[in-house]
Amino acid sequence: MAQYTFEPFKIKTVEAIPLTTRAERAQFIRGAGYNVFHLPSRAITFDFLTDSGTSAMSDRQWAGMMEGDESYAGSRNYYHLREVVQDIFGFEMFVPTHQGRGAEQVLFGVVAGPGKTIPNNTHFDTTRANIEARGSTALDLIISEGLDPTNRHPFKGNMNVAALEELIRRVGVENIPLAMMTITNNAVGGQPVSMANIRATKELLARYHIPFYIDACRYAENCYFIQQREAGYRAKSIKEIARELFSYADGFTMSAKKDGLVNIGGLLATRDPGLFEQLQNRLILTEGFVSYGGLARRDLEALARGLEEALGEKYLAYRTGQIAYLAERLLENGVPIVEPPGGHAVFLDAKRFLPHVPQSEFPGQALTIALYLEGGIRACEIGSVMFAHKDAATGEVKYPALDLVRLAIPRRVYTQSHFDYVAQVIANIYRARDQIRGVKIVYEQPRLRHFTARFEEV
Ligand SMILES: *Cc1c(COP(=O)(O)O)cnc(C)c1O
Repeated sequence: MAQYTFEPFKIKTVEAIPLTTRAERAQFIRGAGYNVFHLPSRAITFDFLTDSGTSAMSDRQWAGMMEGDESYAGSRNYYHLREVVQDIFGFEMFVPTHQGRGAEQVLFGVVAGPGKTIPNNTHFDTTRANIEARGSTALDLIISEGLDPTNRHPFKGNMNVAALEELIRRVGVENIPLAMMTITNNAVGGQPVSMANIRATKELLARYHIPFYIDACRYAENCYFIQQREAGYRAKSIKEIARELFSYADGFTMSAKKDGLVNIGGLLATRDPGLFEQLQNRLILTEGFVSYGGLARRDLEALARGLEEALGEKYLAYRTGQIAYLAERLLENGVPIVEPPGGHAVFLDAKRFLPHVPQSEFPGQALTIALYLEGGIRACEIGSVMFAHKDAATGEVKYPALDLVRLAIPRRVYTQSHFDYVAQVIANIYRARDQIRGVKIVYEQPRLRHFTARFEEV
């Protein structure tokens, strides 16, 4: 039996969760066009749509919000955040943003443009969309193990450094304004990246004078995996590991809605003074002044405190442990998942779960609908709905290598008995999987269609 690492906190405030009947859920999902993004939260019992901005804040963070100094410029909460950012990441030049894509929009608004290519181990969907919206190409260069759902490589999120060098030679240094590394690698299962891979990527990029930026949303979870899995890091603290990791970076974007343990917020940092000026100007145009970046100052205080809490080793052991626990319970029942589980989510492998549903009929979406109908569970399709696209030259539809359904676990929100129930529901669906049918899209938009698409059963 899987072991559960107990929560290193106790509960002070509770929130009731909605309970619904199957008949009610059938009505809700029909009304939502079979897209769980359109469901009201009152229809959902277990919300695993995202771990983004869904964390429970601590009493210490809530107390910090009461200490918000709502000065437009130079609030004391900004200075506190600045101290913490310098301490953990070692960056002097940074701005807060309203969330991760705010940082992306400001950064790529300055550095991207037609003809440019921006590589990454794997771009997250908003990162890709922000790059493509500027007329640039977003390329994924993950190691091949990362795309094999049962390969137990300890750092499946790694960059394929040889492919990166090949790319640089092919498109030319002048067309690559920067290269990125997403830690953990969300799009392939929240898989970590090793320090060795980060160092190798930095060394290669430095030889070509290409800046190295980190997409840092889940850096603390990534650092915990480095401590647990990579030789030479067992005796180091998470903060020491983070300091080393960010010492290789020329900048970073961060959705603080993940390892910042806040409900809203983001960060953008650089070591390039000239670029920093341009970023600040664009920030003022679109997000807000440089000392608040689209956030209330109380949010900055919650973020400063949350960044520190997320470095706690007991917290990270519990956090990664609860993901491993749910994964183990599913594997015990034969349910196909991405192995090993990553840091923030369990990913169901929809291609193996529903082998009778072709990718053109969106197996991930079909499974997402079944999870809702059977258990009131809201998950997120990360597969053909999100990533399939028409090849610009041939018009042929290209499907992603993996069709996944992500059960993203909000931080400090659900307990062991919740996971036991959820595992049971999914095991039951798996036993009756033959009855699940594919779906077709009846409405879509050209970019980020998963948010608004509507479906029908085929
Ligand atoms: C969430 C996320 C983003 C975007 O952040 P938002 O706060 O949702 O705008 C970017 N990259 C990765 C890897 C993410 O997980």
